[in-house]
Parts: sequence; C-alpha cells; structure tokens
Amino acid sequence: MNGYCSRCAAPMATAILGGKERNQCPDCGFVAWRNPAPVGLALIEHEGKLVLIRRNEDPLATYWAPPAGYVECGESVPEAVKREAHEECGLDIVLDGLVDVCSQADVEVLIVVYRAHSIGGILKAGDDASEVGLFRPQDLPVQAYPATGTVTDQWFYRVIEDTIARWRDRVQDNSTVRRTEK
Ligand SMILES: [Zn+2]
Repeated sequence: MNGYCSRCAAPMATAILGGKERNQCPDCGFVAWRNPAPVGLALIEHEGKLVLIRRNEDPLATYWAPPAGYVECGESVPEAVKREAHEECGLDIVLDGLVDVCSQADVEVLIVVYRAHSIGGILKAGDDASEVGLFRPQDLPVQAYPATGTVTDQWFYRVIEDTIARWRDRVQDNSTVRRTEK
C-alpha cells in the first residue's frame, strides 16, 4: 500500500515511526497517517417508533439500520448526524444525547451514536436506502448475523444490535414507569 506521496508525488516507503510501520515519503517526509473515519449514527424516535432504513450500500447492504454517515470537514458530529438523517430518511431531528462511541482496532471507522427525535420533515427513503421503516420496540426486525461478511460487516452488525437494544430497553422502561405512576 505504499503508492505515491499525495504532497510531492514521490514513491512512498515504509518507515518505523513511534514504534509502528507507517507509510512515509522519503523525499518530503509526509506521513500517510491511517486514522478511523468518524461516522455519526442516530437512533431516531418518530411517532413512538424507531426509524430504520434498509441499506443499499455495504457494509451490511440489505440490512435494516439506523441512519448513519461520514462526518465531513466543515461540520460538527451533531451537524453531520442531523444532515444524514435528513438525507437518508427525510426527517428533521433534534439530538437527545450521546449513547456511545463505538470502535474496534481492525475497523477503519468509529461510530458516534446519538438518541434523537423527529421535529418535522417527511419520512421517505433517501439515496442510500431502498426503504424506510418505523418499528415499535416489540416489532424490531430480527436480522441474521453476517457470518460470511467482512470484519466491518460483523462489527457494524453488533453496533446496530447493541444500540437498538438499548433504545428498546429505554423505551420499555419508560412505559413501565408511566404505567406504575397511574
Ligand atoms: Zn513527498
């Protein structure tokens, strides 16, 4: 994966920096650091249900997942999450809090997960999705583990399952509290 320097176009070489192999340009010293790319993901509640989209793209193409996308320079993580939600499911959302930051050593993204709820817009599938669905806590989709998928597919699957389960447990706990208070 040495390739050519993105700064001066000389052939890149392997160098040991900070105790690890890095891809460095011997001419200008440029180091091609490899960092995980941040992705924002939103567990969006709409009419008491969770918004999921059916993904068109890998990882996990054809699976149901919450709207998610890469954070771009020029926007904060929360801004990216709101933009992606609008692009992928048509809703305007407000973020209700950070749920988790998920990463794994051999995966090249890290996912920042928020709880959110809709405040407007029209529910419809965007470019990255073939369908958009609303799921009650008791009717969430049961999806097969991607046993033949990539490491990223399998990790993303666990992130989705875990964070959706936390949304479900929270909603069910809240409804239990409300019933108890009557
Ligand atoms: Zn260079």
